[in-house]
Amino acid sequence: MESMSVRNWPVNKTSSKPLCGDDDAHLDPGITADQWLAALPQSAGILYFENGNLSVVAGNRRFLDALVRYRQRTAGKVQEADEWVGRIADFLASGNDALSFEMGRDGKLGPEYFMCTLGRLPADGEDGHKILLTITDRTTERAIEKNLRRELLSDGLTALPNRTGFGEEIDDRLRNNAWPEHAQFGIIAIDLSRFSRVNESLGPMAGDELLITVAKRLKSGLRQGDVLARIGGNDFAIFARLNNGLSDALHIVQRIKEALSSPIRLSGLQIRVDCAIGCALSINLEEDPDDVVRKAQAAVKIAKRSGKVEIYRNGVLKEAQRRFSIESRLRDALAQGGLALAYQPLIHLQTGEITGFEALARWDDDELGRVPPTEFIAVAEESGLITSLGRWAAYEAAQALSRWDAKFGQVIPVGVNVNLSPIQMARDDVASMFEEALRYSGVTGNRLTAELTESAIIADPDKARKLLFALKDLQMPIAMDDFGTGFSNLASLHSLPIDILKIDRSFVSTMLEDRDKAVIVRTILSLAESLNLRVTAEGIETQDLAHALQKMGCWQGQGYHFARPMSENDAYDYWRARWNFETI
Ligand code: C2E
Ligand code: CA
Ligand code: CA
Repeated sequence: MESMSVRNWPVNKTSSKPLCGDDDAHLDPGITADQWLAALPQSAGILYFENGNLSVVAGNRRFLDALVRYRQRTAGKVQEADEWVGRIADFLASGNDALSFEMGRDGKLGPEYFMCTLGRLPADGEDGHKILLTITDRTTERAIEKNLRRELLSDGLTALPNRTGFGEEIDDRLRNNAWPEHAQFGIIAIDLSRFSRVNESLGPMAGDELLITVAKRLKSGLRQGDVLARIGGNDFAIFARLNNGLSDALHIVQRIKEALSSPIRLSGLQIRVDCAIGCALSINLEEDPDDVVRKAQAAVKIAKRSGKVEIYRNGVLKEAQRRFSIESRLRDALAQGGLALAYQPLIHLQTGEITGFEALARWDDDELGRVPPTEFIAVAEESGLITSLGRWAAYEAAQALSRWDAKFGQVIPVGVNVNLSPIQMARDDVASMFEEALRYSGVTGNRLTAELTESAIIADPDKARKLLFALKDLQMPIAMDDFGTGFSNLASLHSLPIDILKIDRSFVSTMLEDRDKAVIVRTILSLAESLNLRVTAEGIETQDLAHALQKMGCWQGQGYHFARPMSENDAYDYWRARWNFETI
């Protein structure tokens, strides 16, 4: 044993004297040192140390056998014995009663580990010191520890490092590899966009197979020294050494794209792997790798929306953090009734009458302040909160109508338009949502208009068609919002039960200065006429615009010229004031 470098230690004749100690602790003074040692389960021996010389006084069977093997193995190597002499001299000089340490050596079947303990024994009147040495084989424990650790640091499915393992591999590379002076490292984060769909439609086995194949392909494109890890369910990441900064990173991205370009065969189907890629470059080698991984993850989030490879820039992380805090605050706000609807009047352009209001979500948060709807609706869509937000808006709008009716003492001749998000339409049963909202508030369906966008129809035309007909069964009018900005198939418009086209603000607000816009507005108006649809113009900010649209035969208008969105009570007063006026 390396730890027992006692090549030149003579084995003294075994002392038969009983070991001394505290009187009370003596079990039987007749027991000899040999008998004590023999009773110990581990290898144990008594050493004698005097003037830098070490000898073995006694030892149990295991100890003496090991000593023999050790002598055979280390014959001629002085160093190891010296190491022991040094350790024991230090131990004795320390004045401590005991010292434990681990020693390792290369065994026939791999590394072996031993826990050694030195204990000071009474010197028995001799000049030197007696020491009890016990040695316990810890090789098995260490092997178990190692396996557990490997499991802890790697992903069982792909055998790649996991998030923790990735961190350790990076630290190892940064510490132990030689890096040129101005080198950087980069993290490339890869998110398999359609992975959850594969899991849902083909089952988790196919999902696993996909991950394994992707892991293999990504690995095949790696350079030596790069590290690939699976850091989340469908998230992979690569640590790469960059000698030429961004251009190196982009080369790696190119290789990733090539590796994933050909379809993967799964359960008899050819699956194309779509992925979002985000990169972050370290400022220097001192930068905390965890920070760089986080930056790459922020970039990949942006890439999921943009569809392009995104490189982390300053501010991206802030944006991601803001989205994250919007998401968690919005979840609370929805649960605690922290949102409100604002109502913007819809004006009949020929008569000036108020025909209804568009309900627009408003959110004032204690921490974030007033968050614009475009921002929190996008976060709600991304996080799935849009279904509860949409449900809340439909119920609240129907309730507002019934509260206005109650205030007036009879049903008032106005309706409310409710916005529907394409994601909400895909995920929720919107028809039964409206049915319940109407039933609960006692309002008739003809007073609640659904506003949806062209993208909701394009995403799943069959589903959209069914929904629209279900809404018609409830007597609800249907408006096509932001009309002109999407890619509507005009033929499909004709076959769908749509009642109203809302011309997008971007065409209306500048139509008096921009001839092209005016042409578009005219075209939409004549298209609507031939399809028998009514038209609402959004974004009317001036009297001139209101007049021009009125002359063009546009049915309804909405915009700051008439009124901004307002609270439920203000909206009622607004209507009440004008209704009186008109009936006089
Ligand atoms: P949108 O459906 O196109 O709503 C009209 C937007 O134009 C509103 O913005 C409104 O305040 C604004 N607007 C009205 N008149 C004028 C004008 O004369 N000039 C200008 N510059 N703007 C005008 P808002 O309230 O910021 O809402 C933005 C978008 O957020 C809405 O666009 C809609 O897509 C979405 N949104 C709002 N509330 C909801 C909701 O409850 N559910 C869903 N799914 N989306 C909502
Ligand atoms: Ca709208
Ligand atoms: Ca609109």
